[in-house]
Amino acid sequence: MNTEELMEHITSLGAMELEEKYGAHNYHPIPVVLSRGKGIYVWDVEGKRYFDFLSGYSALNQGHCHPKIIGALMEQAQKMTLSSRAFHNEVFVEYAEFVTKYFGYDKVLPMNTGAEGVETAIKLCRKWAYQKKGIEPNEAKIIVCEGNFHGRTSTIISFSSDPDARTGFGPFATGFVSIPYNDLDALANALKDPNVAGFLVEPIQGEAGVIVPDDGYLSKAFELCKAANVLFIGDEVQTGIARTGRMLACDHEGVHPDILILGKALSGGTMPVSAVLANDAIMLCIKPGEHGSTYGGNPLACRVAIAALEVVKEERLAENAAHLGPIFMGELKKIKSDMIAVVRGKGLFVAMVINPVNGKDAWEVALKLKDNGLLSKPTHGTTLRFAPPLVINEEQLMEAVAIIKDTILSFN
Ligand code: PMP
Repeated sequence: MNTEELMEHITSLGAMELEEKYGAHNYHPIPVVLSRGKGIYVWDVEGKRYFDFLSGYSALNQGHCHPKIIGALMEQAQKMTLSSRAFHNEVFVEYAEFVTKYFGYDKVLPMNTGAEGVETAIKLCRKWAYQKKGIEPNEAKIIVCEGNFHGRTSTIISFSSDPDARTGFGPFATGFVSIPYNDLDALANALKDPNVAGFLVEPIQGEAGVIVPDDGYLSKAFELCKAANVLFIGDEVQTGIARTGRMLACDHEGVHPDILILGKALSGGTMPVSAVLANDAIMLCIKPGEHGSTYGGNPLACRVAIAALEVVKEERLAENAAHLGPIFMGELKKIKSDMIAVVRGKGLFVAMVINPVNGKDAWEVALKLKDNGLLSKPTHGTTLRFAPPLVINEEQLMEAVAIIKDTILSFN
């Protein structure tokens, strides 16, 4: 049998063997092979159904295969998919106006992946530093936080504090200053350096394990940045687009980042679409030829992003996350088990820190959850992240809670 014939009769085991053989080993997936998704559910190749409590790392806030988003995708796919920015395209024009008004900025710079969005924000901040702040060439610094996750490019991993992300990938890019997260004194101190141009921060550290800073951290950090004439760069690739109960996590504290980075759910999990938003005084520092991407701003992506953002408002996904988040966390906190060290989160962005019991850690819990019909993925060994699609309702959430509870209690 060749691979094509094999795929028709594929079993999970067979598929995993093929992936092991032909796919690079840069991931260590939960052993489940998915073939279909609808709303909050996914099905494996054997037809077993699961709650998807990872949601493509929050790319699927609108749920799998949302009919409106897929409809927009299919219609545009038959009309035009790519013009490149060498030419104007009618959909980018429409999207640019739509997305800037949606988030309250003068301009948008479209990219594809989240990491590209972050790279764009770094470049934009540096240009602004030299043109507007008057920092000497090549001297600009950007403050970042320990425990950050902003993507996998070589510049971004240069300021990661995760050894897995960095080891063996040097030499590293310079121009970054790392301070502890959720530490305003450290920020104030770092801001004394006149060569600092930007502060790049996740409003909640997602990959680090849903680390929620103290109330007031973001608003005070924003004020400190303003006082130092430093750009506040909000990486809302994972926290943005309704996940935490507001459109942006920064909205909880009334902070409007100088540079906003979005990705993931901007396309509702259909294709890589990211965006950097800023006002003219910053965005116009980049001139033609200085930055771009072949696929950035393509008509297909723009049409999909408009639909994906419309769904968020039409279906009141932020309100749903704000309503269900506390219920979800309350239920998880009620589970009586030594295995649960902490439950934390905001909206439907929730993490459970697992105390290993009899050598069984978060990975073992994730495997058992999978067997019981719920998918989640450990982050940093000890933490399980629970981030269902935001189209989930209370009844479904309670069903999921029962699975989580039974699973945890089965280890006692
Ligand atoms: N920023 C944050 C906060 C993220 O969580 C991620 C991805 N987990 C990224 C950037 C990178 O996005 P991508 O994988 O699309 O490059």
